[in-house]
Amino acid sequence: MNDTPLSNRMHIGIFGRRNAGKSTLINSITGQDIAIVSDIPGTTTDPVYKAMEIHDIGAVVVIDTGGIDDSGKIGEMRVKKAYKILNKTDIALLVIDRSQALGEHEINFIKEVNARGVPLIAVINKIDQGNIAGGLLSELQLKKINYICVSALKNEGIGELRKRIVGLAPDDYERKSILKDILAPRDLVLMVAPLDMEAPKGRLKLPQVQTIRDVLDTDCQVLVVKEPELEDALNNLQNPPKLVITESQVLSSVAKFIPQNIALTTFSVLYARYKGDLDILVDGARQIDNLKAGSRVLIAEACTHHPIGDDIGRVVIPGYLNSKSKGIIIEHVAGYDFPSNLNGYSLIIHCGGCMLNRREMLSRIGYASAFHTPITNYGIFLAHMHDMLERVVAAFGQEKCVNL
Ligand code: SF4
Repeated sequence: MNDTPLSNRMHIGIFGRRNAGKSTLINSITGQDIAIVSDIPGTTTDPVYKAMEIHDIGAVVVIDTGGIDDSGKIGEMRVKKAYKILNKTDIALLVIDRSQALGEHEINFIKEVNARGVPLIAVINKIDQGNIAGGLLSELQLKKINYICVSALKNEGIGELRKRIVGLAPDDYERKSILKDILAPRDLVLMVAPLDMEAPKGRLKLPQVQTIRDVLDTDCQVLVVKEPELEDALNNLQNPPKLVITESQVLSSVAKFIPQNIALTTFSVLYARYKGDLDILVDGARQIDNLKAGSRVLIAEACTHHPIGDDIGRVVIPGYLNSKSKGIIIEHVAGYDFPSNLNGYSLIIHCGGCMLNRREMLSRIGYASAFHTPITNYGIFLAHMHDMLERVVAAFGQEKCVNL
């Protein structure tokens, strides 16, 4: 169970006012003491993540958040953090103390959840401690909000809550397969893993590992080679591969060995489909040609790392942009905090987002669209830079041209 990366798990966010019993609920749902439980309001300051398995759903991560009613300077930052968790939430639980009526905090939260189309369950907690506040249930009914009454402390109603979660779980929280739709059983996929300084020591990168798994699950064959062995591997094959997948950095050198009649793509393109929206990201790359002096470009990475050698985000992409036009203004952000104001950017170039779940990547794409800002990802940018954009998307019939 713990082998499933967080980014591939359905994300269940637990929200509510301080002291509504969110931490007790997460402990009760997971059956473990993960979150610190205390009667002192505001005990949960930073979101707490717990990976677990829910029967009929599979691997999920439950996220305990700080109170949506926190106050003061630091408290407001915690509220913002809790709301940011909504960007990655596939199903939201709003915990309400049974003694309280729906207040502005809940109403604002419900509005926000509805605007994002996230399934919601209101969890009326602490029913072991007295009556439910008059009017609370009828107001939820009036607002057509799915609710359930529980005692997280006494574990009452938790089994039913799990069933409700299963019933409401969106089945598109992840694209079911990276490649299944374009492969047939027994197809051969050739993967080129570069000698990459950024690869984790002794391991392949996450997208490579997940793609191998996906190819095997599709009853296909996969051959993995390093770039220097590519030519030999091709010569040794009796039949050509159905698809060649390479890291974006070595796309142009790999392409020299791959005849035009063999489909060629990159892990970044696969991930643009798997986690995001290939069409939007490809359209974003086409905007590169419209950049000019004074255009502001945001380079966004979803996690922080130490730049090594010819780092794509710090060296390769800025170098290319500078060669296209002097005076393009390049800014960088890294980590889970995506800027809330995208005004004034002419283009966002995002990393592959392998550590983000699909909802969060789609949230970022949707956010860019709301600001009418084109967005692309590193690999698609590099394909455009090498004049190979059409070729690397050609394999994906529905989204782009057909050729496989
Ligand atoms: S999330 Fe982005 S920055 Fe982090 S490892 Fe994946 S591609 Fe690199």
